[in-house]
Amino acid sequence: MNYVDSHTHLYLGEEFGEESQMVVRRAIETGVTKMVFPNVDLSTIEPMMQLHSAFADNTYIALGLHPTEVKSDWQEVLEQIGPMLETHRPVAVGEIGIDMYWDKTYREEQMQALDIQLRWAEVLSLPVILHCRDGLNEVLEVLDAYRGEVPQIVFHSFTGSEEDVEKIRQRGDFYFGINGVVTFKNAQSIRDALPVIGLDRIMLETDAPYLAPVPHRGKRNESSYIPLIAMKVGEVLGVDVAEVASKTTENASRFFGI
Ligand SMILES: [Zn+2]
Repeated sequence: MNYVDSHTHLYLGEEFGEESQMVVRRAIETGVTKMVFPNVDLSTIEPMMQLHSAFADNTYIALGLHPTEVKSDWQEVLEQIGPMLETHRPVAVGEIGIDMYWDKTYREEQMQALDIQLRWAEVLSLPVILHCRDGLNEVLEVLDAYRGEVPQIVFHSFTGSEEDVEKIRQRGDFYFGINGVVTFKNAQSIRDALPVIGLDRIMLETDAPYLAPVPHRGKRNESSYIPLIAMKVGEVLGVDVAEVASKTTENASRFFGI
């Protein structure tokens, strides 16, 4: 079976150090033959590009400024990242979005940065990897006010309710990134939302090094754990894991054009 990890930060030196390449190889051996690396800020572009060039056939990159890194200098940072969209061949703009969980100081700036980066995606015909944590109202407000055609979006690390799915669907035919949270005991609401989303709009992701699925919960996550997430999704939806693998791979391949 082949899988795509649609969201993984295996390039983060602090977490993986010398082991980054080994961890990518282990994923490929497990059948996770395609991995998408979303960017965080200016400091992560270099290590991300390095790991990507070591595995150019199996890894892809996205460029953008993560909402938790939107600070007072956000405009200068975007001015530096913007031109790289032309030179670094990203498959998406990301990860971008709203995060009101850690810090609400830059709420307005996060919303403006999201709007600008949505525009990048629209102009370049790229899809968007969206990070939304405690920020659905803000995201919907930005989407509703957006002047132009909202690009295709994956709501990465989606842990919302059936109601949230409906609200998002009213804005577009978007995708939902499902990760290890679906295996957590206390995450019944996302399991309840899966049938509403449907396999046609689900992508698998690890969000490594975070959110490792059971039985690795609390430890460092890695892309080779994708089959554990697939098995859980299959169990919840009552479909064979092979179907989860083929359908989610098809979804991610089409979405990212990979
Ligand atoms: Zn991420």
